[in-house]
Amino acid sequence: MTESSNSGTTPPEDAFRSFHNAERLQEEPLIRVMALHALAYCERLFYLEEVEEIRRADANVFAGRRLHETLDKGNDITTLELASERLGIRGKIDCIRRESGQLIVCEHKKGRSKEGKEAWPSDRLQAMAYALLLAEHSGKPADEALVRYHADHRTISIPFELDSAEKEVGMVLARAKELRLSPDRPPVPVHERQCRSCSLVPVCLPEEERFAGGGEDLPQRLFPEDDDRRIVHVVEQGSSIQKDGEQFVITTKDGTRKGVPGMMVMAIVLHGNVQISTQAIHFCAANEIGLHWLSYGGFYVGSLTPGAGAVQRKNRQYQAFQIPVLRARLTARLVHAKIENQLKYLLRLTRGDSEGRTPVVEEGLARLRALLHDIDAALISVDTDESGLCQGDVYPEELVQRLRGYEGSGTREYFQLLPHVLNMKEDDFLYFAGRNRRPPKDPFNALLSFGYALLYRDCVGALLTVGLDPAFGFMHTPRSAAYPLALDLMDVFRLLLWDIPMIGSINRRQWTESDFDIFPGQVWLNPDGRRKAIALYEARKAEKWKHPVLDYSLSYRRTIELEARLMEKEWLGSPGLFGRLRIR
Ligand code: SF4
Repeated sequence: MTESSNSGTTPPEDAFRSFHNAERLQEEPLIRVMALHALAYCERLFYLEEVEEIRRADANVFAGRRLHETLDKGNDITTLELASERLGIRGKIDCIRRESGQLIVCEHKKGRSKEGKEAWPSDRLQAMAYALLLAEHSGKPADEALVRYHADHRTISIPFELDSAEKEVGMVLARAKELRLSPDRPPVPVHERQCRSCSLVPVCLPEEERFAGGGEDLPQRLFPEDDDRRIVHVVEQGSSIQKDGEQFVITTKDGTRKGVPGMMVMAIVLHGNVQISTQAIHFCAANEIGLHWLSYGGFYVGSLTPGAGAVQRKNRQYQAFQIPVLRARLTARLVHAKIENQLKYLLRLTRGDSEGRTPVVEEGLARLRALLHDIDAALISVDTDESGLCQGDVYPEELVQRLRGYEGSGTREYFQLLPHVLNMKEDDFLYFAGRNRRPPKDPFNALLSFGYALLYRDCVGALLTVGLDPAFGFMHTPRSAAYPLALDLMDVFRLLLWDIPMIGSINRRQWTESDFDIFPGQVWLNPDGRRKAIALYEARKAEKWKHPVLDYSLSYRRTIELEARLMEKEWLGSPGLFGRLRIR
């Protein structure tokens, strides 16, 4: 009976082993020596990497990996992985040197030693932790550990004594365990010098955090102003994408093949009927390359989300969005930014023509100004009031509803005024009479919808990169078909990233009727039109501009992710920087 119940299923000893393994998994995991190295460098770095599971390979990290691959280690034993339950650590030793009957840890570093004569504290700790592991496994402690600095060709000897090393590493380990249980990110350290060479600077944003905390100096941009990697859009229907070694190969229907090196790709967007192989999908997941599907008409279908990760950040987001005053504050900031930008753009389109503005336009502009006035009042109350009541006896939830109403009115007003300020003739095939969608009924609306779909995809991608849940927003409701938080973030960028370049291209007569598939009651961009729209959108994203509050330049491409990170800072204790983007 027992035998038959086990036949064809898990054998008892395997069942025991998997049960035992499951128990082991629930035990406290060993801490990586590299994590201790991070902790000795900066507690916040440890927390971001080990607790929030954010790891980023920047140019320095790649250079370090290359160094290890190309090292001539002579007779040394190379890379040995060791773990110790007793010590509570595990790690991969760069190399072990045999000298005078001893086994000596030798850690290789790409950079320079400290003042040409010492190891940096974090490197010292790392070498000692490895020496402890080696001593336990070999049974023979060495009397030193070495750190080789390749930039200044120095090898630093660190005296090793078992008891004092165990004590020193043990203290850092105890702090690591404490931090692992903490729900809060440690603060940014006072000394900013160490941030300059930190791979997590674009995630951590230490300068921006110091500025939000009342720092007097304007923040310096410590990360590159643009990302060198590109987004690959595949619009040719019937195309397929495969992986070949470290590159993607795109094959179009007529058999034309084009290779794109994987390291140059930030994301791939598949428009409509485009296939991708399982191997290529795995490669994307393993290398944090975003993968997004849009329908033929440009509607967002879905994205590949690598790993479960980011639980801590999502948890904090859920908790934050339960706080009505915070939601009201974010909504007020967002709606103000959107309507102020719309008003400024309409004024810009009629610049030099204030005399000739029709009464319809003047009245519309006045209504937008009045809306801004109301939102200003809401903003003041939510930015200063933590009591739970916002304006007089208005509860924050009611205020969010009211602000949603302002946003709807502002957007309606903007689209009603656009035809009056665009100076287009009614017989122009791109004539805009008002906003319509699902499906768009004219070429102007087809262009608007397609550009917004591209932007929506970028906003979803930015939120996933930051580790936020796009399905949980503060202003848009979960009832909407799209991710509410992506729609929230999009509202900061609709005008900046699409309306302005699109209307500019229309004014330059860059579109022809042959760019559209025109059917009764619906109009879509065809493949040529889509290629043009994508080129226009990507060119806009590559443009550099100066952030009006942070006062440094960066590409719009980077700005989307930056804005998502600044949004997260609203509930991480450094508020005040989200939703401050304005056109001049
Ligand atoms: S950027 Fe600075 S504060 Fe942030 S993790 Fe790196 S070293 Fe620490």
